[in-house]
Parts: sequence; C-alpha cells; structure tokens
Amino acid sequence: MKKPQTTRFIIFSFLSIFFAGLCHAKTSIILLGPPASAQAKFLVKKLGVPSISTGDLLRAELSSKSEISLKIKDTMSQGKLVADEIVIDLVKKRIAEKDCQNGFILDGFPRTIPQAVALKTSNIEINYVVNIAVPDSEVIGRISGRRVHPASGHTYHVKFNPPKVEGKDDQTGEDLITRKDDSEEVIKKRLEIYKSQTNPLIDWYKKEKNIKFIDVDGSKDIKKVSEEIGKFF
Ligand code: AMP
Repeated sequence: MKKPQTTRFIIFSFLSIFFAGLCHAKTSIILLGPPASAQAKFLVKKLGVPSISTGDLLRAELSSKSEISLKIKDTMSQGKLVADEIVIDLVKKRIAEKDCQNGFILDGFPRTIPQAVALKTSNIEINYVVNIAVPDSEVIGRISGRRVHPASGHTYHVKFNPPKVEGKDDQTGEDLITRKDDSEEVIKKRLEIYKSQTNPLIDWYKKEKNIKFIDVDGSKDIKKVSEEIGKFF
C-alpha cells in the first residue's frame, strides 16, 4: 500500500501539470486582410506569441539566394502568389519551432483554399480568424508610401510613420528602399489576386465550428483598429 505522503505527492504533481497546461493554452490566430493590414506587431506584444509572416519568410529565402529563391523571385516581383507547396512547407517548418508551442499569429497565410486545407489536414490548431476589411484606396495609400530597411526589415511610411531623416533608417542611417512589389501597378495586381484567391477564405473559415471568426473594420487608423481587435484577446 502507498504511503499517504507518496499519494499526496502524486496528486500534487498531477494538479501542477494540469494547471500548467491550462495556463499555457494556445492562442493561434490567422490574420486575414489585404496587404498592409498591419496588426501583427500589436498582437505579438499583447499576447507574447510570435508572428509568422509568409512574405518575410519568402523574402528571407530571396536574400539567402537559396534554391527556392530561384523559383519565387519573378513571381514575387510581379505580385503573384508563390506556389502553395513552397509556402506550406515553409510555414509548417516555422510552426514546428519551439517558440510557437504556445501559439502564433499567421500573417499573410493562408492566402488560398489549398493552403487552408493544408493547415487543417496537418492538425495545426487555429483558434481565431481576424478578418480585417480595408478599402482598396486605403490599401494603395498605405503600400505606396511604405519604405523598408532591407537589412533589418524595419518598415516606415512617408506619411503615417516617417523616419527621423527622410529616406534613412532610424537606427543605422542606411538607405530605405521601396519594395519592387509596392509599386502602384503591382499593388493593383496584388489586390485583384487577393479578391479572387483569398476572399473565398472568409466563407470557408466562417463555416469552421471550432474557430472564432472576428470581423474588424480596418479602414480606421491603425491604432484604432488595434484597440478594436484588442477587445477580443
Ligand atoms: P506580403 O509581404 O505578405 O505582402 O507578401 C509579399 C509577397 O510574397 C506576395 O505578393 C506573394 O508573392 C508572396 N506571398 C506571401 N504570402 C504568400 C502566401 N501565403 N501564398 C503565396 N504567396 C505568398
């Protein structure tokens, strides 16, 4: 027969593991919205989980001149979507990393129904989809004014978030660039693709029973939109 002390120890250990599990409940979010919906940073700060931007993952491939970079260079500069298999593979590898074990924010993924199906069939749990609706004119204004420091990925906006010195990164003083796919012509193409390939995900996710779907008006200024989203988390 077990001693009472041993029994107490077993019960204590069991309860500790149980409550630790509860405290670390996952928060996995998909941000749906046209390019430059810009809410991932705010959620990372609020929830303490990493954001996974497929645009950033793909740009990292481009700058590392990996084998994949040859396959995606032209597609990306034309504002078209990269092949599903490539993006799905990058996302799955990233989600398997340790910092994603308590959740993550998917920013820019999925962008097609096959990508959403791949998440589901890989048993990657998603708790929330936040759909940020932004009018085209606003998207064009936000993107065409965007400037990037390529080495760090810091982004600025000529009007809404200007650097201290025009055209220079605040921290390094190095030149800022306009991304090739941020030209007005390419933005229009990206919006067209968004409507035909990504918009169908709205209805797809609304039908998913275990995922909370949140609609947000993304036309207001970025801080107001963050406040609106923050009410749900
Ligand atoms: P973003 O920085 O999210 O605007 O993405 C920049 C570009 O990366 C897009 O225009 C696409 O060419 C590519 N891209 C990003 N995410 C995806 C995705 N989920 N599926 C396919 N292509 C993507």
